[in-house]
Amino acid sequence: MSKVAHYLQEHLQGEVMTSTDARRYFATDGSIFQVAPALIAYPRVENDVRKTCRFSWQLAERGRIIPITARGSGTDRTGAALGSGIMLVFPAHMNRILEIDTKNNTVTVEPGINYAKLQQTLHTHGQFLPPYPASLEYSTIGGAIANNVSGEKSLKYGDTLDYVKGLRVVLANGEVIETRRLTKKELSKKMGLATFEGEIYRSVDTLLEEQHDLVAQLSRNVTHNNAGYNLLDIKHKDGSFDLTPLIAGSQGTLGIITEAVLKTEVHNPQVTLVLAKFDSLEHTQAAVMELKDLSDPPSAIELINDGVLQEIHDLNPNQINDIIQPPFPLATLLIEFDSGERAVKKVLKKLNKILENYALDFEVSDDPERQQQFWKLRQSTSALIGHNEGSARAVPLIDDAAVPADRLREYLEGSTHILTTNNLPAAVWGHAGDGNLHMQPRLNVGQVGDRQKAFRLLEEYQRLVLRLGGTISSSAGDGRLKTPYLEAMYGPEQYGLFVKVKQIFDPYGTLNPGVKFGTSLDDLKAMIRPEYDLAHLYDHLPRS
Ligand SMILES: Cc1cc2nc3c(=O)[nH]c(=O)nc-3n(C[C@H](O)[C@H](O)[C@H](O)COP(=O)(O)OP(=O)(O)OC[C@H]3O[C@@H](n4cnc5c(N)ncnc54)[C@H](O)[C@@H]3O)c2cc1C
Repeated sequence: MSKVAHYLQEHLQGEVMTSTDARRYFATDGSIFQVAPALIAYPRVENDVRKTCRFSWQLAERGRIIPITARGSGTDRTGAALGSGIMLVFPAHMNRILEIDTKNNTVTVEPGINYAKLQQTLHTHGQFLPPYPASLEYSTIGGAIANNVSGEKSLKYGDTLDYVKGLRVVLANGEVIETRRLTKKELSKKMGLATFEGEIYRSVDTLLEEQHDLVAQLSRNVTHNNAGYNLLDIKHKDGSFDLTPLIAGSQGTLGIITEAVLKTEVHNPQVTLVLAKFDSLEHTQAAVMELKDLSDPPSAIELINDGVLQEIHDLNPNQINDIIQPPFPLATLLIEFDSGERAVKKVLKKLNKILENYALDFEVSDDPERQQQFWKLRQSTSALIGHNEGSARAVPLIDDAAVPADRLREYLEGSTHILTTNNLPAAVWGHAGDGNLHMQPRLNVGQVGDRQKAFRLLEEYQRLVLRLGGTISSSAGDGRLKTPYLEAMYGPEQYGLFVKVKQIFDPYGTLNPGVKFGTSLDDLKAMIRPEYDLAHLYDHLPRS
């Protein structure tokens, strides 16, 4: 590898590192897995990315595969930000806001910019990016686009893809393309190109035409689905064509993003927040379904179950007892409206009726201080994640799937059952309106017994999600963790479409291999870390 490192050192403007320390650092991300990269490069300009890809492509043509993994802040919880070859780390240098267009409400950025930093800048312009993840303080926009992330406000505002107008992408061979919605005429021009780009447009178009019916069957009855590749939103009825939906959410397996133009929304910090308690999961689900149907629907419907509240209470009762006391309700919902006072007034009558029908009790608040107290319930889940018991840590393992919202009750009951039958506390929370739940059981993955338990939980959980007609990957992507279940979710024919897409974009398999394809359960077992912690998220970056 030292020859490769020397070549890159000579040809890139950014730094290249091969030290054991740096390789060890980048061997982990937010997941329970580890894979050490051979070397780390910090691209300074797009040309660094092009040169790296071209170099790797040329080696691949001669039969030597050196994988490339793009990396933002490495907060991914599925092992998507790991790789055994070249790790291209973006936050060090390619981290700028290139343009804020206040007329058209767009912002152009490099991928390595910290999400929270961008959000703060947008706030000063009265704008924001609505699908922000809970990890925005630590993560990048590049990671958010590559994972097509969604968050608490995605119920109303959609996922990241809904805000990506266009991308600059370095292809596996080092060519650069710009994706955006093309007219029929522009598409035929692209298809006429004698370049790799032309070949990609021709092949993807042919695939969509020839497999039209199979592609249509990829649709799932969930609000956010990041399992596999998004083939549904490329070609439109009017003949327009956009590769952006394929790249966003592809986790660096089809190309490397070097620039993005994003649409922003007006930010209204004044919201109305409702805290509603339920003693029946059936009633919780019924309320969620009716709330989603309101003429001005909530911007968020977040759920915390009794298991979360009990655990928090056991850890530190003072944390929540000014808002809620035992015995805890089976489910608590936080329902947020952000359309302004007048709009909320209009739905308030209907809202009251829904909650009077289904909730034990509820409180509506326009007071920011009281709202802060309500949010503390949801935020308390980070205390659960951060709490260690001996060597046992809260691990991201059975997480981030989603089911149709009308199967939320079954999802909650099934998840609780899996946790309790494995002698684990049944603490479950999530985006109820999106049928998306989170749980992070505390396990010591370094210990054989707990490792076996982890894989038992994983199997039982994925079976539950698939039985309920859900998706294995909702707000972020498949990474390595979900890869063994991708074919089971779609069946061999639909899965075959994803394999073809990967072959079109990455014929030598140099772009983030092992993510979305080629990772079995046995591979996962071999990759598991001896110890899990998230202590390291933001160092090891040379300063620009
Ligand atoms: C506590 C916690 C809370 C979280 N909450 C959420 C949440 O609410 N919603 C959610 O969706 N996720 C969440 N996540 C997961 C993760 O933080 C997000 O998906 C985040 O957006 C990833 O950004 P990152 O910069 O860390 O990307 P990384 O982890 O570095 O990378 C993620 C993926 O993007 C690819 N990638 C990165 N940069 C590029 C690029 N320039 N070109 C091509 N591919 C690239 C990587 O190869 C990898 O496949 C959470 C994680 C933690 C630890």
